[in-house]
Amino acid sequence: MTAGIYVQVPFCQTKCTYCNFHTGVFSHDLYAPYANAVVREVADYPRLLRENKIQEIPDALVDTAYVGGGTPSLLDPNALRAILDAIRARFQHKLVEVTLEADPETITPEKAAAWLEAGFDRISMGAQSFHDNELKAAGRMHRREDIFNAIRILRASGFQKISADLIAGLPHQTDATWNDSVAELLALRPEHISIYLMEIDEGSRLGLEVLNNGTKYSASALPTDDAMAGFYERAGAHLAAAGYTHYEISNWALPGFESLHNLKYWRREPYFGLGAGAHSFNGAQRWANAHDPAAYETTIAQGRFAVEQLQTVTREQALEEELFLGLRQLAGIDLAEIETRYGANLGPRVEELRAQGLLEWHGGLLRLAPGRLTVSNEVFVNLLE
Ligand code: SF4
Repeated sequence: MTAGIYVQVPFCQTKCTYCNFHTGVFSHDLYAPYANAVVREVADYPRLLRENKIQEIPDALVDTAYVGGGTPSLLDPNALRAILDAIRARFQHKLVEVTLEADPETITPEKAAAWLEAGFDRISMGAQSFHDNELKAAGRMHRREDIFNAIRILRASGFQKISADLIAGLPHQTDATWNDSVAELLALRPEHISIYLMEIDEGSRLGLEVLNNGTKYSASALPTDDAMAGFYERAGAHLAAAGYTHYEISNWALPGFESLHNLKYWRREPYFGLGAGAHSFNGAQRWANAHDPAAYETTIAQGRFAVEQLQTVTREQALEEELFLGLRQLAGIDLAEIETRYGANLGPRVEELRAQGLLEWHGGLLRLAPGRLTVSNEVFVNLLE
């Protein structure tokens, strides 16, 4: 069985206004000790699993690795290399995709060369918008020119797998600026594109401002939900016309460039998460490391596992995951196979939602109706009721 490895790097240069991830702005002096802790966690991994009664996956072959965050491209390339070396030394592996998340302004020719040399073959870059006023309002460090520079550097270094994202729904975004951002990104022809719908989390600075009807962080300049849904739909049409396949709610790829690592999440395949706040799944149990980097490092330094939550997935939860993760994929799910595996009868509920135009049959598989992808969460809630 194959498995993925995810490494979380929780450091950022600034906190984006809309972000509610467990990431923060820390002194650069903390970067190296953190990377060392991840290396130690990797080295101790099998023992840590055993001591915590977490089932190992015998003969698991690690074929994807993904270093995300946060902004892992802030780390010294030697530290990133040490983490990959530790993974290659500890796990049986045949790596076919090794991704590093990078913010455009952190990408230099020296770093790009070192990343390739270390074994990264895919860069996932947070472009988000090609309009400086939108980037500035969101608290991003990079500007439009940085995106062009970054792609130039990555291509010149030899990266052949580049993913870039846009966010639909940033403050100040209009039909015209959105169309422009999509066109600019398509002209750069990354192999993979993610389009995220802006989520206003109440725990973010922007979210709090929206709750209080304030104007800070350009809260009053947020596009409406309808406008945002229109952005998403239009982007999808442009991407399809440009040859990109829509394979997951937020993700498009040129043929053969789907994210193999992220597919594991939606297919409920195993992955091991390393670093503060990283999540893991072995097919039967889910667990997560401590979110606080200092607590994580202290625990690892003591030779203990930094696990904060450990849960055995019940049959009912597994069925729910099959549905809401599986249906994120545009190809759809084999409902009959899932019903047989879980002894479930979902037919009547599915038929109701199909009659409401929320789900549809396509080539024998059940999938979200293409026009309802922007309300996928509501469809999932309805289906799981
Ligand atoms: S760079 Fe990403 S993780 Fe860091 S604050 Fe911004 S959105 Fe959050």
